[in-house]
Amino acid sequence: MVKDSKFLKIRCTKCNNEQNTFGKASTPVKCLVCGEPLVDPKGGKGKIRARILEVLN
Ligand SMILES: [Zn+2]
Repeated sequence: MVKDSKFLKIRCTKCNNEQNTFGKASTPVKCLVCGEPLVDPKGGKGKIRARILEVLN
């Protein structure tokens, strides 16, 4: 499981755009390129829909 309060490097599964996001997302995160939803906030925990490449401390 991914710990909260860490930054994640994720890759959009649709267009392969890479971007960083907060592990505990409270708002939806969309791909900056194609608009694909990458993180769905549910009950305070971010559900990651994208591929996680790296966890950044
Ligand atoms: Zn994308």
